[in-house]
Amino acid sequence: MTNLFNHDRAGLERHFEAAGHRPFRARQIMKWIYHRGCLDFDRMTDLAKSLRAWLGETASLDVPQVVSQRRSADGSIKWAVRAGAGDCVESVLIPERGRNTLCVSSQVGCMLDCSFCATGKQGFNGNLTTAEIIGQVWLANQELRAQGQSVSNVVLMGMGEPLLNFDAVLAAVNLMLDDLGFGISKRRVTISTAGVVPAIHQLAKVADVSLAVSLHAPTDALRDQLVPINRKYPLAELLDACRQYINGLGERRALTMEYTLIKGVNDSPSQARELARLLRGLRCKINLIPFNSFPGSGFERPAAPAVRTFQTTLMDSGYAAMLRTTRGDDIDAACGQLVGSVADRTKRQARYRARLETGGETIVGPLHHG
Ligand code: SAH
Repeated sequence: MTNLFNHDRAGLERHFEAAGHRPFRARQIMKWIYHRGCLDFDRMTDLAKSLRAWLGETASLDVPQVVSQRRSADGSIKWAVRAGAGDCVESVLIPERGRNTLCVSSQVGCMLDCSFCATGKQGFNGNLTTAEIIGQVWLANQELRAQGQSVSNVVLMGMGEPLLNFDAVLAAVNLMLDDLGFGISKRRVTISTAGVVPAIHQLAKVADVSLAVSLHAPTDALRDQLVPINRKYPLAELLDACRQYINGLGERRALTMEYTLIKGVNDSPSQARELARLLRGLRCKINLIPFNSFPGSGFERPAAPAVRTFQTTLMDSGYAAMLRTTRGDDIDAACGQLVGSVADRTKRQARYRARLETGGETIVGPLHHG
């Protein structure tokens, strides 16, 4: 059985052609799946009976099973959905005036182990499939459809490092952008990365979506501690890749630099000035995220005045520095609080860390469900 959610338009066309069907069938099917939310081949009435019978025998339309749904007092909704055998990942819908942003997960856990992120502490148990990624958008869209709305923005800022699950993420992103898919503008689809430099270069060749980079420190010494992948791809290389990516997008687009503010660690006015110097000349806006706590993190959120001083220091240096308001923290759905349930059976995260320490081989490459 082929789960058709695993293919973007080009993949679906190839799938139909290989079986001797006309490729435009892919377009018809996509309208049923993504525009009408229909998952029942028998209801796809503009397809010939014989084609529907073939689909019934050889194909499926499986979205991830919803394990739980929680609603925040602020209107955010967090879903836990089944991924692979026994694991769960989380997605969060954040309704705001005029837009519905969905925060999507790309991996079961994460192997990067940033010191202040709850997801990393859970360990890593594999990549999501394209179907599991786009399925999160499909499910949220069904919820909104009932109110005559739809997902307007997608941020790949849930669990996992999207650029370490490159192919599956790319196909899912294609479906988000495709007019026959969710038809979301490329400006409103954002891939967030902790800084997988080779994959940023690779992305520039195949996509022009918005890019957010989790920076969190103005120096290599500090970033090595907070974001361990920095030991492999230090700031100079990362910012160079950022510059190339943004130059490829054209004048009117900017990168987003994410900076989680942690009390006494990276929140001083002098660090704000260092950050301003570091980013000089790079077309970017800065998104400040006051640290969201989780049990055992060992870090604290700075007091409001320190956050404001950091922000105004950046603004005085000419940067657009926005404070990301915390949403959904009453249901543990805020940045860095997504944990799902991940059995790190393979201990791959530990192996990855060992490779980083010894400066081992490249980590870009296919990794499948363990
Ligand atoms: N791996 C990708 C995608 C995850 S995005 C990346 O690193 O960009 C999640 C965002 O939330 C990142 O910017 C991350 O650094 C930030 N974050 C993680 N833990 C956090 C916490 N406890 N409080 C606030 N922000 C956090």
